[in-house]
Amino acid sequence: NERMKTVIVGGVAGGAAAAARIRRLDETAEILILERSGHISYANCGLPYYIGGEIEERKDLTLQTPRSFARRFRIEARVRHEVLSVDPEGKTVTVRDLEKGEIYTESYDKLLLATGAEPMGKNLPGADSRRLFSLRTVEDAAAIRSFIEEEHPKTALIVGGGFIGLEMAENLARRGMEVTLIQAMDRLFPPLDRDMSAMLQHYLRQKKIRILLNAMAEGFEEDGGQIRVLIRDRDAVTADMAVMAIGVAPDTTLARQIGLESGMKNSILVNDRMETSVKDIYAVGDAVEVRHRVTGEPALISMAGPANRQGRIAADNICGGDSRYGGSMGSSVMKVFDMTVALTGINEERAKARGIEYEVLILSPQSHASYYPGAKVMTVKILYEKKTLKILGGAILGFEGVDKRMDVLAAAMFAGLKVTDLKDLELTYAPPYSSVRDPLNIAGYMAENIEEGLVKQYRGEEMASVLKKDATRLDVRTEAEYGRGHIDGFDPVPLDDLRERLSEIDRNRPVYVLCQSGLRSYLACRILAQNGFDCAHLAGGYRFYETVEREYTLAETALPCGAEM
Ligand code: FAD
Repeated sequence: NERMKTVIVGGVAGGAAAAARIRRLDETAEILILERSGHISYANCGLPYYIGGEIEERKDLTLQTPRSFARRFRIEARVRHEVLSVDPEGKTVTVRDLEKGEIYTESYDKLLLATGAEPMGKNLPGADSRRLFSLRTVEDAAAIRSFIEEEHPKTALIVGGGFIGLEMAENLARRGMEVTLIQAMDRLFPPLDRDMSAMLQHYLRQKKIRILLNAMAEGFEEDGGQIRVLIRDRDAVTADMAVMAIGVAPDTTLARQIGLESGMKNSILVNDRMETSVKDIYAVGDAVEVRHRVTGEPALISMAGPANRQGRIAADNICGGDSRYGGSMGSSVMKVFDMTVALTGINEERAKARGIEYEVLILSPQSHASYYPGAKVMTVKILYEKKTLKILGGAILGFEGVDKRMDVLAAAMFAGLKVTDLKDLELTYAPPYSSVRDPLNIAGYMAENIEEGLVKQYRGEEMASVLKKDATRLDVRTEAEYGRGHIDGFDPVPLDDLRERLSEIDRNRPVYVLCQSGLRSYLACRILAQNGFDCAHLAGGYRFYETVEREYTLAETALPCGAEM
């Protein structure tokens, strides 16, 4: 029986996972990893923290070396070897040894492409400046770190407000640099809706990060010892160094050369067994198109978890099994200074674009029992389909316990739970960790209240029209809270006085209520509704509304947010 030979192009998240799984299934298989960079199985996700210094040693970034991989798994991994082309008929790959410059061929029985995604924007004018960096490999991270240690830059521009841009903002600030984020869109971190993004922006401004929104970088120029970023219709900005993080695109040079069928943005089209359109060629990770679990539509989701799972599935199938990939939801989490930003599924913007009829829950629960020290408010936004109560997605921002709520939500979505099922989840509770009603239980209660017609809500976006209506508008917070800031047109009637003051309220007009977080306004609405009033309360409350509005206004002024600080 001949040994099956699998060649894997790309030895990181997807490729290394597949290689190790093949070995676990087939002790005799021949497995060869060809990796262009100098490392296999490195922690891409850890690179920003190596630059910031939180991860001190470069060696901590590489989970496996070719040596350790060979010893443990008897897998041969050749780093600094680039696959130049594939002959799918003859089943060979042409490889260049980047150290020696030699070109040779290798045969394969099965080929796995795990080539990942590459940073976009490299073709912008002036992008070859030595002061401009992008971040994908250990080498990229090392280059940024040496630049910082040798040239001591004081200011940095980050082009792109996505995952990598935000993580870099934190880590360069940690290095003592003054950081400006330049973002083409109207908000940072576009997987978040604009309102949630405003909350993030508000926090970043407190951390002294300057933010330029609606700023499309068009090119770069060297300017003495500095780099200038040219921005469409706006003044250029200059700093000692810049990082380009405007997103990634599937690295499909090989796939195109082979002539593989492609999906969106030239990604590789695969079936749920991770097979490409050509026999015996598999593909996984950032390079492939996936099915979005929520919408069922094609999607590109560049995350390490999916790449790793797909690698395992491809390996199963390479070894004669039948494993299937069920799609991705985009579950992700990110640390931005002390804030955790987590999300899954689709956001409101996408639901709208797809014509899905949805409802939104916005709540600001405490991370754990408020009487136990250290509880922190988090902002939770959950989206569900009106008709089916299917959870479409959610986002959570906060400082403690954010990731676990998001993971439970993602698991609930995976399992197909309805939003109202969240109220029945029996989750762990002790005061240092949660409250008897976990934030997700509360979300479930809120959805049930809305669906059973116990309470109606209105959104911050509707405020202008609410203010124009012939209606009663009540702010049911305390007088002190009202004094600290309120919306003109809302009359202060503290919740605890409401029952006594019902006679002052016109029964023939609708009543719009608000409070700080949405809890007291809900209580007020229950009092009012049971007394025959037509009542609605502000989703998310004044805290959310006020922060979001303030950030929207700042975003629209040409001034960089944070400039006034
Ligand atoms: P990769 O891991 O990118 O590996 C592809 C490899 O293929 C590369 O090493 C490349 O050199 C090699 N290659 C390409 N073409 C060839 C060729 N022709 N010949 C030889 N080798 C080739 N995801 C998360 O889920 N959470 C995070 O916190 C997170 N943080 C990130 C932070 C950074 C800075 C970066 C860059 C990414 C981060 N990601 C994160 C994304 C995650 O790293 C990727 O989704 C994941 O690594 C994709 O795995 P992959 O196997 O498809 O590709």
